[in-house]
Amino acid sequence: MTVPVFRFAPSPNGALHLGHAYSALLNADLCAASGGRMLLRMEDIDTERCRPEYEVAILADLAWLGLSWEEPMRRQSDHFPDYRGALDRLIDAELVYPAFMSRGEVRAFIADAEIGHKPWPRDPDGAPVYPPSDKTLSLRERQRRMADGQAFSWRLDMRAALDRLSAPLEWMEDGGGPHGETGRVRAEPAAWGDVVLARKDSPASYNLCVVVDDAIQGVSHVVRGRDLFYATAVHRLLQDLLGLPVPAYLHHELVLDADGRKLSKSRGDTALRALRAGGARPDDIRRMVGLPHAAGGAPLKSGE
Ligand code: GLU
Repeated sequence: MTVPVFRFAPSPNGALHLGHAYSALLNADLCAASGGRMLLRMEDIDTERCRPEYEVAILADLAWLGLSWEEPMRRQSDHFPDYRGALDRLIDAELVYPAFMSRGEVRAFIADAEIGHKPWPRDPDGAPVYPPSDKTLSLRERQRRMADGQAFSWRLDMRAALDRLSAPLEWMEDGGGPHGETGRVRAEPAAWGDVVLARKDSPASYNLCVVVDDAIQGVSHVVRGRDLFYATAVHRLLQDLLGLPVPAYLHHELVLDADGRKLSKSRGDTALRALRAGGARPDDIRRMVGLPHAAGGAPLKSGE
């Protein structure tokens, strides 16, 4: 029988709060209930915002919660060649293209396009989709700009990628989407447009790293917040293009603050550190996020 593999994948760009605690504890509970293996992955690809001291604090918070994971933990910044390899395959397959427009140029293009016309399409996160102009550049012009050292990102050619599919994309959803989507869910990545897969200042995007890592680590169950529900459509597309296995997904509800807003790493009051300093015990945290007490009253140990 294959052993289920779960992972918790925080980004060390701030302190963990109650929402992360819920996600980590839920992963560990589901992992323990299914006799699975628990992994931890530091998603520190964004070298501008991620810091080693946050990683240290995250590890301490998770240990305090009573969690354990298989060592060594995977740290994304140790594995740039894996992401580059996946990107190269997509470049060779002519599914990505160099995108040269700066943020300002994109804004100006869209402002212009919206004059007298309907609003420019937005992706599921509300960001404007990337304009199509760079796709019409000749190979020669692309090569000239790259040789001149002009900054560019690698973007997925969504249209070309969708044209390569032989069957509609789906995933198994054990949690739910914002509109109650559950069970077999149809993945519709088109609304994301030409997503970035690598930038000059960050060699691989979250979307690319997450599918590469889940495959390399043999993750069978992805348990994470509902804010990533729609991004799963992009993950399914990349898995298909790269021939990677498809895990089952469970997108859980987000822990909200008293005003019904998503918790943020910059607001300190729900930080585990602050709650702990205020006298909270790990079981108090479980109660606050609505999880049952750990079996036998002892901290839950996963991955054992
Ligand atoms: N690193 C992401 C975050 O901290 C989680 C990504 C995932 O679980 O797929 O929000």
